[in-house]
Amino acid sequence: MLALALVWPAASSAAASPEKASNFERFRVQVGACIIEASPAARVHLDALAARAAAILPGLESSLGTHPAGPYRILLIPPGRSDDPEIAVLDASAPPWAAGFLQLRWRVGGIRVARADRYPYSDLASVLLHEAAHMLLFDAAGGGLPRWFEEGVATGFERDWGLRDIVVQSSSLLTGRLPALEDLDAAFDASDTRARAAYASSFDFVSWTVRQYGEGVVRDIVRAAARRPFGEAWEEATGTTLPRSEAEWRHDSLLLYRWIPALTGSTVLWGGITGLALAAGARRRARSRAIRERLEAEDRWEAVEGGEPGATERRPDAATGARDLAFFADIYASGVPPWDIGQPQPDFVRLAAEGAIRGSVLDVGCGTGENALHLAGLGLEVWGIDGAPLAIEKAMAGARERAIEATFLVGDALSLAGLGRTFDTVIDSGLFHIFPDDDRRRYVSGLALVLKPDGRFFMLCFSEHEPGTEGPRRVTQDEIRVAFRAGWRVDSIRAARFETNREIGDARAWLAALTRL
Ligand code: SAH
Repeated sequence: MLALALVWPAASSAAASPEKASNFERFRVQVGACIIEASPAARVHLDALAARAAAILPGLESSLGTHPAGPYRILLIPPGRSDDPEIAVLDASAPPWAAGFLQLRWRVGGIRVARADRYPYSDLASVLLHEAAHMLLFDAAGGGLPRWFEEGVATGFERDWGLRDIVVQSSSLLTGRLPALEDLDAAFDASDTRARAAYASSFDFVSWTVRQYGEGVVRDIVRAAARRPFGEAWEEATGTTLPRSEAEWRHDSLLLYRWIPALTGSTVLWGGITGLALAAGARRRARSRAIRERLEAEDRWEAVEGGEPGATERRPDAATGARDLAFFADIYASGVPPWDIGQPQPDFVRLAAEGAIRGSVLDVGCGTGENALHLAGLGLEVWGIDGAPLAIEKAMAGARERAIEATFLVGDALSLAGLGRTFDTVIDSGLFHIFPDDDRRRYVSGLALVLKPDGRFFMLCFSEHEPGTEGPRRVTQDEIRVAFRAGWRVDSIRAARFETNREIGDARAWLAALTRL
């Protein structure tokens, strides 16, 4: 590339030198291809920035493995109106809350010195690094990178994920939703609050990506994106499709930032949160390894089976019909699953009407929350948990829309003790039947811990009378009796129907009622 010849000419001047640009005096510092300019009013900032720029910009290029295609200028914008017309025009070209911005076509950008300490930045150097990263990414991939990726990378170069990011991410997750990657790009230019949340999410996703796929992954994606569409570049560099990475990240993020604050209560002690987040970070790193190993195993399985990567029919254990959380995260991302009938299962409606479901209720594997919302609408205190973040987002949206009070959490049904409380009633509509034998045992021991003595457990699962092999495992009456042998009384197991939204109609099921002894 011709551009390489222009990179980092030795002449980088450490001290600002005055230069006349039209009739307005500017001071100027050059570090490699980056020229920083300031009016006399901002000279003091330029002096402070010059040494930092010389120290940090070369590192940026080597980390990204790419160089600017040509010189670019960054103008420091002091507060107030500027007489210097170029600075005034530049200032007017960006939303008032932005601390830094670039006009890529003209290879010129601005940094508003008074805003440099605002999220996601910390000081002038951090804004400079951010804008320089944008310039480099633009030059490397010719504008072929999505904005969220650029923002995530650019923010990541300024600093490590820290307390402020955790606060922004947690508070936006507690009060709203984790936006889809494809919706993030529009958010950067929306309100200040939405932009902050978009920065935090992009930063989080890119940091997660680096932890997941290794330090060199950003460089590999950028390089590949110069040759092919971004989605393909992602897959080439990570070995995984972007939707799949996104689903994994959502799962990890929601566990970390929503589940933890929810457990610590609404008057959140951020110090405590940070401690927990750090501990969870350590666990997450371990889990990332486990996830990677599992994905590799799945990929091997796919290679043997000749399955299409990214297809929703991917099953970790196709033979037994057992599924894991990634399977469910994918399935909610790819449409409305067969069990999501947009209303509660009639058997649970009947049990509630008969007064069998009472007191505090936990709906395990609540999906999009129809059963939980029905019960909460009757005035019961209800918690719904599910491992699929998208399902929980839908359940929370349902609660908001219908003004129903219920608690929804992303969490693992195999770690129920982590909920830290007990319930009078637990319901399970279509969860038990997905677990392989080992998980089934873990699940039942967890249930015993969250159910009060004499508490009731109601479960609807596929029965062996449902023909075919499509869908979850079939469960026999005997299997239910065996699973709940110790510490439980089986009150009844009745033939029932599991309604689906598919033309195949309802599935044959067992409705089991048990009491915890
Ligand atoms: N109860 C809902 C959903 C049934 S489908 C309904 O009746 O419509 C099974 C649900 O269990 C899915 O939403 C899936 O995401 C969830 N799930 C599967 N494994 C889980 C696990 N280990 N922890 C929590 N939820 C899980």
